[in-house]
Amino acid sequence: MFITKIYSFILVISFILSVSAQKPQVADTVEQNLRKHVEYLSSDKLEGRRTGEQGATFAAGYVSNMFAQYKLKAGHRGTNGKPNFLQPFPYVAGVNLGPENLLRIVPADSANENKMEIGVNWMPLGYSQNGDIAASQVVFAGFGIVSEGLKYDDYAGLDVKDKIVLVFDGNPDAGNPHSEFGRFNIHTKASIARDKGARAILVIASESDFKSDRLAALSYDRTLGETAIPVVALMRSHGAELLGAGNEKALAEIERSIAIKKDTTPSVQFKIANPLNATARLKIDLAKRQTEAYNVIGILEGNDPLLKNEAIVIGAHYDHLGKGGQGSLAVNSNEIHHGADDNASGTSAILELARQFAKEKKNKRTIIFIAFGGEEEGLLGSKYFVNNPVWPLDKIVTMINLDMVGRLQGKLTIG
Ligand SMILES: [Zn+2]
Repeated sequence: MFITKIYSFILVISFILSVSAQKPQVADTVEQNLRKHVEYLSSDKLEGRRTGEQGATFAAGYVSNMFAQYKLKAGHRGTNGKPNFLQPFPYVAGVNLGPENLLRIVPADSANENKMEIGVNWMPLGYSQNGDIAASQVVFAGFGIVSEGLKYDDYAGLDVKDKIVLVFDGNPDAGNPHSEFGRFNIHTKASIARDKGARAILVIASESDFKSDRLAALSYDRTLGETAIPVVALMRSHGAELLGAGNEKALAEIERSIAIKKDTTPSVQFKIANPLNATARLKIDLAKRQTEAYNVIGILEGNDPLLKNEAIVIGAHYDHLGKGGQGSLAVNSNEIHHGADDNASGTSAILELARQFAKEKKNKRTIIFIAFGGEEEGLLGSKYFVNNPVWPLDKIVTMINLDMVGRLQGKLTIG
């Protein structure tokens, strides 16, 4: 979307460098300011600036106050027409289970029906579409993958119209992180099933301990949003029962035999009679916790009557990972992730650039300073900005993004 022009970048960098070549007290001021910003943004009070949480909102408020101090023009105009540095965008903080969730799996001999307990042996995916699905036949469709390019089709010969599809999690090339099958995530599988006419998907969990399976975590997918049809995760032992596998070991055998299919290596062939001898009825009732997150936008008009219509965006994301979890290098830690380098450093750098550009007012083109929110959750803030720009996109000639600039130590990566 943005064209990066290296010369502008070099301009900014040389500007920062030239500051340190200036009189000692000027360099001192720059260093003090940068230090002050980084210290506040990465302080315990801001609790790791997780988007949607109070700490991130404090950070946005801080940047907004600084922009006001530097007398930048507020970039956003609210519905009330009032200018504001904060550009709000919708954000799903999480999902809650509603009261109506239900899964019933009735085998041919209904006396053998298992009691399904949410959170114990089944769970709607946190990013499942809601739905109310009448009792439908269950059809087994391997991993639920169809790919012409990979010459692989789990649906070959199957009729799944108005049925519920049972699939394994993962793909036939499990364990290979570079596999071309890797792109078949749950969203893609749900779309394939929907296109085939299926009503919902039951996904057999990969972990034996159901509660520790990632699909049972009820976490929302902010990057991809909801699935195309309702999707629930099912405990492995129940998957085994549905497939007549008897136990989990036999289930793992079935999983392996399908996995081998992609190489057409002969293997034990399990005869699974589709549709399975069972019907399923399900109701998914999830309530999203909707909130707002913010980009912070400050504009410094250019001083050239013509060139000022063109803008350069100087941006950095201000959010970080809060107390860990998804995206963290220490997934199971519950400590504050302060994110001094990622990206209090970049945020502080744009604040200091804003202060100095605003003081000197020598810029011919307009400069738009943006502290983006929601970066760690999938570039949500910058996506929102591109779809809701405060300046015509074709008049934004360059975007310079500063991410993790606190530990360059003589090494600078431009990419
Ligand atoms: Zn970053």
